[in-house]
This record gives sequence, C-alpha cells and structure tokens, in this order.
Amino acid sequence: MTAQPNAYYPNLLKPLDLGFTELKNRVLMGSMHTGLEDREKKFPRLARYFAERAEGGVAISVTGGFSPNLEGSFYPGASKLSSSREIKRHLQVTGAVHEAGGKIALQLLHAGRYAYHPLSVAPNRIKSPITPFAPIALPGWGVKKQINDFAEAALLAQKAGYDGVEVMGSEGYFINQFLVEHTNRRDDEWGGSFANRMKLPVQIVQRVREAVGPEFIIIYRLSMLDLIENGSTWEEVVLLGKAIEQAGATIINTGIGWHEARVPTIVTSVPRAAFTWVTEKFRQEVAIPVCTTNRINDPQVAEDILSSGQSDMVSMARPLLADPHFVIKAQSGRASAINTCIACNQACLDHTFEAKEASCLVNPRACRETELNYLPTAQPKNIAVVGAGPAGLAAATVAAERGHAVTLFDKANCIGGQFNMAMRVPGKEEFENTLRYFGQLIETTGVKLELNTEVTAAQLKGFDEVLIATGVKPRVPNIEGLDHPSVLYYTDVLRGNAPLGNKVAVVGAGGIGFDVAEFITHAGSSSTLNPEAWFKEWGVDRSYQTRGGLIAKEPSPPTREVTLLQRKDEPLGKRLGKTSGWVHRAALRDKQVRMLSHCEYFKIDDRGFHILVDHKPQLLEVDNIIICTGQESLRDLMAPLEAAGIKAQLIGGADVAAELDAKRAIDQGSRVAAQI
Ligand code: FAD
Ligand code: NAP
Ligand code: SF4
Repeated sequence: MTAQPNAYYPNLLKPLDLGFTELKNRVLMGSMHTGLEDREKKFPRLARYFAERAEGGVAISVTGGFSPNLEGSFYPGASKLSSSREIKRHLQVTGAVHEAGGKIALQLLHAGRYAYHPLSVAPNRIKSPITPFAPIALPGWGVKKQINDFAEAALLAQKAGYDGVEVMGSEGYFINQFLVEHTNRRDDEWGGSFANRMKLPVQIVQRVREAVGPEFIIIYRLSMLDLIENGSTWEEVVLLGKAIEQAGATIINTGIGWHEARVPTIVTSVPRAAFTWVTEKFRQEVAIPVCTTNRINDPQVAEDILSSGQSDMVSMARPLLADPHFVIKAQSGRASAINTCIACNQACLDHTFEAKEASCLVNPRACRETELNYLPTAQPKNIAVVGAGPAGLAAATVAAERGHAVTLFDKANCIGGQFNMAMRVPGKEEFENTLRYFGQLIETTGVKLELNTEVTAAQLKGFDEVLIATGVKPRVPNIEGLDHPSVLYYTDVLRGNAPLGNKVAVVGAGGIGFDVAEFITHAGSSSTLNPEAWFKEWGVDRSYQTRGGLIAKEPSPPTREVTLLQRKDEPLGKRLGKTSGWVHRAALRDKQVRMLSHCEYFKIDDRGFHILVDHKPQLLEVDNIIICTGQESLRDLMAPLEAAGIKAQLIGGADVAAELDAKRAIDQGSRVAAQI
C-alpha cells in the first residue's frame, strides 16, 4: 500500500527513491562542524546529537567535515578519517542514527589552502586571504595520493556504518581550488584547460564509487556559484555536473560562494532561499536528484521550492540545530511551534571559527543533548519570572515545560524585550520568529502571562521562586550637553520612531550602533525581503553571464549622512561576530557611513558635536546625536525585594549587562530553569 501524502507539506515529506535505497522525505541535514567531531571522547555526545535529529524526522544527516588525510585537515588535531583505528568511534554515531530511523552520510572535506597549519596542500602555492599559511604546491604524484585518500576514507566510512559520503567540492576548499584559475595555475595534466582542472573531482568520485560499490550514497557538493573573481562560468559548472553524474554520484548538493567571497550567503540579512534559482537552473542539466540549500528555515519555503520543481531535496543545517524536531512538527501541522533559526551565526558558525564547540542561540541544548535536559520536576513550585525578554522567556517556558506553575510578568504590552527593537532593523526580520516561537510555547506550556504589569516587590510575595529578568537600560555617557534637544537614545529611535534630521552622529559602534546606523540609512522596505534589490546591492549576476556570478554592486543610496564614532583606536566593527561582522561593515560602507575611531567626546551644543579625533578637534555639524554607548543592568526591584525578605535570582541583562547578548540571556535563563 502506498503511503498517503502528508496533508501539510506533501512534497517535503514525500519519500525519495534512490534506486538501491529510499530516503523517507526530502530533508537533508547539511554538514556543520560542531567541534564534537575532533575528539574521540566527544563521540557519545555526537551520537546523541545526530540521533535526536533522526528521531525528529530528518531523512539523512551529513556529518561535519572529516579530512581524508593529515594534510587536508582543518587545523592540527581536527577531525579526519584515515585509519581503521578511527572506525570504532563512528559506529556509535551510525548505530544511534539507524536506531532512530534515520540515515547518515560522512562528509569528506579536504581543506586545501584553507587549512590552518603549515602542512596544507593546494594546486599552487597561493595563500588564501582568510588563512595565515601559504600551502605547499602538490607534485603530480601528490595529487594522485589525495585522490587515493578520498577513496580510502570513503571505504572506511562505509565500514563505520555510514549510508553514504558527501564529497565536499564547494565553498572554496581543496577540490574547488583545482577547478578555477584563481587558485590553479598548473601547467601539468591537472591545470590549464577546464577539462584538466576538473579531472581531480571527477576522479575522486570515480574512485570513491569503485571503492564503495553501487549501493552506497555518494553526495557531491558542487560549487554552483563561486561568487569570486575568476570563478567558474555557468558552462563549466554544467560540464562538471554532468561528469560528476557520470562518475557515479547519487545526489548533487548545492554549494554557494567560497569562504573568501565578499557576498554574504547565509547570514540573517540574506533573503530566504536566495540561491535556489541556481539549483533550479542546474537541475535541468542532470538526471540524478539535486538538493538546494542556503537560508531555507521554514517548511513552507521548502515545500514551495519542491512543489515548483526547483529541486528534489532541501538541505537545512542551522535550522536543525535550532530545532531538532523541525520535521515532525511540520509533519503534524505544528509549524508555528518550530524554533526557527534566525541565521545569526552567533552560537554555531562564530563558535566554529573561534575553535569553540557549536551550539545555538535559540536552542542552548544544541550539541549539549547529553548534559542539558529539561526533565519533569518531582516538586512543582510556584515561580514568578519578571521580564519577558529572551532571558525571562527562556526561563519561564523551560520551568513550565518541566511542570512548574509559572507567572511571567512584563511591563510592556508584548513579550520580547529588546528583540522588539532588533527585529525592526533592516536585515534582522528573522528575529520576530523567536518571539512567535516563545509566544506559542507560553500557550502550550501553560505559562500565565501578565503583560502591562510593572511588578513591585509586594506582588512577588507568596511565590516559591522569583527570577528577575528585567534586562538593561541604556548607559548614559559622560558628555557635556547631553540634555540638548538634538540628543536621542537608540531606544527613542528604534522604539519610538523619533524624528531625525539629515545629518546624524551615532555615538558608540557596538552591535547596536551598527544596527542603528543601518536603520537610519535605509529607505523603504528591507532588501532582505526583496531578493532582486538584494542581488543588485551585493553584485550578484542573476543572469549568470559572468565568471563566478559577480557584477558591480549597486547599493541603494543612503537616506541621510551618518557618522559612526567610537573611542577605541581600532577599526570600527572589529569585535562584531566573526562570520557576520564583515557583512555589517560592508553594508555601512556601501551606505557611505563615515567611520571615526579614536574619538574623544567633548561637548554637544547648537553648533553640533564637538569631538577630538586622534587628539585633533573636529566639529560635526549634525542635526541629531544618537547615543548607543552600551547598557547597564536594570535591577531596581532587588532592593525592595531584599527589604521584603523575598529571595530572587537575577538572569540575563539584569544579572550582567557587559557583553550581554541574546545567546547568553537564553542560555542562562534555560539553565537556571532546568535546575529549579
Ligand atoms: P531585555 O530584552 O532587556 O528584556 C527585559 C524585559 O523586562 C523587558 O521586556 C522589560 O519591559 C521588562 N521589565 C523591566 N522591568 C520590569 C518590571 N519592573 N516589571 C515588569 N517587566 C519589566 N543580541 C544578540 O544576541 N544578537 C543580536 O543580533 C542582537 N541585536 C540587537 C539589536 C538591537 C537593536 C538591540 C536593542 C539589541 C540587540 N541584541 C542582540 C541584544 C539582545 O536583544 C539582548 O541581549 C537581550 O534582549 C537581553 O535579554 P534580557 O531578557 O536580559 O533583557
Ligand atoms: P557594546 O557592544 O558594548 O558597544 C557599546 C559601544 O559604546 C562601544 O562602541 C563602546 O566603544 C562605546 N562605549 C562604551 N561605554 C562608553 C562610554 N561610557 N562613553 C562613550 N562610549 C562608550 O554594546 P551595544 O552596542 O549596546 O550592544 C549591546 C549588546 O547587544 C552587545 O553585547 C551585543 O553583543 C548585542 N548585539 C549584538 C548584535 C549582533 O549583531 N550580534 C547586534 C546588536 C547588539 P568605545 O569604548 O570604543 O567608545
Ligand atoms: Fe541559527 Fe543562530 Fe542558532 Fe546558528 S546560532 S543555528 S544561526 S539561530
């Protein structure tokens, strides 16, 4: 009997017949390096992490990258699979996934010149702009050794119980480095013509297929749009795709952009499913299933892609960190209960690039599945949580999920705290989803929500536990003339739409200063919601006539003249997120925002803002000055609570304001509530 199509997402949840095996639906969990892969002792955690995603309905997961040899590893001690001694640890992972009803493929990733060690190898000795080591140029026999190592690693993966491998041929790694003249200047059989340059990936797939036999999934991640100067042409992409199909690949997955590309491809300001058009174009050229990727974080978006024939499968990576139960929630018509990935990169990719274990800002359990669990309580308590920002929301819902009776107060008329300001910033629209998620969770866990309630100590009498999550207030800097009518705080601008003149100085260049500068230079709707405008802004050639798919950027003109200032003598935005900071900096440069560092703030008066830059006086003749100079904890309730003898615990910004972000607020709120 054939199964009935799913009532909600029939295409997303339709099985995919691969001939020798079947995938139960169209969801592939894309490869993410979590940091658990690097150490044998962390494999039990890795197994639980993948098993939870398989239990949650993912058809096939792809592991983080494992190098086929030492020279291809990312950094000293990074994950690799090159010896039979390494098989045993993987059996835990594959066993756990199979027991949970899923499939799993191991990603074979050779870093090439992106490696962080002096033994890195590449077609030529050309250093990458994002790593400190110049690679060793491979001799001909060395190229053959790399191919051999891929085949051997695939065989080891098969012995370790994997259902397949993904050969990482995109994102600017080793294989990509052979494909384009940008990095391949060889004049032997591996360089010169495109036929020579593509021999490496084709031979890798051929040799892997020979090694593993016909009944093993080979996914090839193909760089369909390099987004670098001198990248592949569309014709080369198609030639390679057809050859990879011939060589024995089972599925072709989409790769977009090299790591060194200066077009953002996955951060939150990238429109949803922005690059699916590339997969659609490619799908017409091959007969095997293709999988699309990048900024797909919603089941309806995925369903629309599949139902319109743009792709056969959808790869989601970060969305499954954020919610391991994404698929079963979609399957049962509970899409609004999905904890949506907001594409912030703060706890996943930023951690990976800082050599820390990955997790997720909206789901602190991600990669902590064996240690952070919200278990039912044996002693239900009556708990008050004051403040419904990220910290309070996390604490209230975790405590209620565990069986406590929770009342959540906020003086505002809605939940979300500062996230209500964040989501107004163009390019941060996704943040609204976190509030939708928590709103839903408040209902399903039975949290009693009391909005428009500025809590006093007297109201907190009688609760067994009190959590204070009242957040922060803007820091008031020490500048003469701060009471001048031209002065505003970021809260006035982002919450209150305070009217602004044409020339504005933004004081303080942290995350909020950058966001405010973005907010006040934007006209009309956000390009994140208008992909065609976004492609123009970032110079993506939608007609794909150029190498790498790049054309000149056409940023929309700024609505006002903005100067962004900081006291530190370092480039502005240097401390923003590792993987997203460059996008914010480039976006403001395109908006012609003037950036001044090493400032001293002297005085504000009718003439403007008097400052010193590099100790030299300057007058900024501006209409408004917006203060974004950090924040201080708001915990006025603590003293009256103490006086009334009520014990309370501080969480989130109310606890520590310095370097506070939603990652820390949600993590702390969840952990405290998991212990009550
Ligand atoms: P808050 O969000 O400040 O919430 C405190 C809540 O307590 C508020 O709702 C307030 O109304 C309520 N409250 C206060 N006093 C009382 C009282 N007496 N009675 C009842 N209720 C009370 N972080 C990131 O990680 N990534 C980002 O990209 C990011 N972007 C941001 C952009 C902007 C423009 C802003 C302003 C912030 C951004 N943040 C970002 C920071 C993030 O929003 C904060 O770190 C987070 O909201 C702090 O959470 P919290 O729960 O501690 O406090
Ligand atoms: P912040 O990052 O601490 O930046 C505060 C800015 O004010 C800095 O530029 C600082 O630089 C300046 N400053 C500090 N004290 C000052 C003083 N007394 N006088 C004058 N200038 C002073 O804080 P924020 O921008 O308010 O952001 C708050 C938190 O939200 C951050 O921790 C951040 O993680 C989070 N956030 C994150 C994002 C994101 O995209 N990830 C976006 C927005 C917010 P100088 O000392 O050099 O002047
Ligand atoms: Fe998504 Fe941010 Fe979580 Fe990463 S940390 S998975 S980008 S929500």
